[in-house]
Amino acid sequence: MEAKTVHSPALTYFSMLSLLSLCPPFVILLWYTMVHADGSVVETWNFLKQHGLQGFLEIWPRPSTVAWKIIFVYGAFEAALQLILPGKRVEGPISPTGHRPVYKANGMAAYFVTLVTYISLWWFEIFNPTVVYDHLGEIYSALIFGSFIFCVLLYIKGHVAPSSTDSGSSGNLIIDFYWGMELYPRIGKSFDIKVFTNCRFGMMSWAVLAITYCIKQYEANGKVSDSMLVNTTLMLVYVTKFFWWEAGYWNTMDIAHDRAGFYICWGCLVWVPSIYTSPGMYLVNHPVNLGTQLALYILVTGILCIYINYDCDRQRQEFRRTNGKCKIWGKAPSKIEATYTTTSGETKTSLLLTSGWWGLARHFHYVPEILASFFWTVPALFNHFLPYFYVVYLTILLLDRAKRDDDRCRSKYGKYWKLYCNKVPYKIIPGIY
Ligand code: NDP
Repeated sequence: MEAKTVHSPALTYFSMLSLLSLCPPFVILLWYTMVHADGSVVETWNFLKQHGLQGFLEIWPRPSTVAWKIIFVYGAFEAALQLILPGKRVEGPISPTGHRPVYKANGMAAYFVTLVTYISLWWFEIFNPTVVYDHLGEIYSALIFGSFIFCVLLYIKGHVAPSSTDSGSSGNLIIDFYWGMELYPRIGKSFDIKVFTNCRFGMMSWAVLAITYCIKQYEANGKVSDSMLVNTTLMLVYVTKFFWWEAGYWNTMDIAHDRAGFYICWGCLVWVPSIYTSPGMYLVNHPVNLGTQLALYILVTGILCIYINYDCDRQRQEFRRTNGKCKIWGKAPSKIEATYTTTSGETKTSLLLTSGWWGLARHFHYVPEILASFFWTVPALFNHFLPYFYVVYLTILLLDRAKRDDDRCRSKYGKYWKLYCNKVPYKIIPGIY
């Protein structure tokens, strides 16, 4: 399997090297600013200006034993749930080499067990989640280094013991490390590494940390502010939606097209727990009071966005699952029958939906995704920019992703993709872009 880049080689190398070197310090700076600098970028900037590199090294927490213990126990617990809990057998999409991965769909059960266990540990005073918040910097530091080593191991595994035919080297060490070598790496026959990193460690940590922030605010102030309640509820609704639809996620770019490397695995192991949860991290020591009416408006609008995002994904998958024999917004779907050739030379057919949400724009589902993140951040109001970092980052990520996906589909479907673009000319926002 050959690695293809969608941008020019110079831009590709520049962005890979920048992300490899800048993401780790950024995680630490964001945590430091949220927890120790009142969420103020200016305060952190002044500190760095005054103390320079030495100051930065001093604020970078060393991975402590407590941090390693928390990460290890959490990771082992999630891995055990992934292996043990029962679930329906689900087949993933057919890969470019004709391989079809098989999964056990037990994500919702794992999510439920995790949250009940975590809240019970707190309720029965066995483990207080404030310990996690109080060691957050050390945990992120340990995750940064631990996940880097994990990605090196993935790289070595890709070379010496690939799990399936969907693997290969681009011939370039940096590309192989950054984009990964294997599409479906596994330990043994059934422990899927990407399901673990992306879903059971990464996405699960989002919910666990959202609850942690809420509990920390409660323990610090004796109550939870309405802004924190709105933020936590929306993030939990989003993550619940994710696990409800987890088997659908296994059909998306993250799993079916992006190989297991630094970009996706380090991203899910470090970036998701630190950056995705950051609006909640900010609210812990900024208990904004919104008032019931405003809080409810934000909550309801946020839930609506999450629902629309879910419905876009559901519509596409229902359409593919039934081979186009379903109703889209009450009518028979309009579609394009697109043929393509696999790397093994076989000719196959895919259906492209051109009505419903997928008739508004080719990546309309990114609009409610971005808006939802805005609604779980806006309870922080507008005193500081930093809580909005995730919204800005997500917008850039999804703009890039729309381009990557369009380019990939164009090379996969050729004239049929062109036909789709003629029928649905907008990329993301109908009538605008
Ligand atoms: P998807 O993988 O779900 O959709 C794109 C794929 O669907 C294409 O590669 C193509 O694959 C197929 N496809 C494209 N157009 C059509 C069509 N008209 N009809 C049928 N199939 C089509 O997209 P994403 O992975 O980007 O998004 C999945 C979800 O994850 C979304 O809800 C998104 O918002 C969310 N997301 C969240 C992120 C976050 O960080 N919070 C990041 C990225 C996504 P094929 O080869 O099968 O034809």
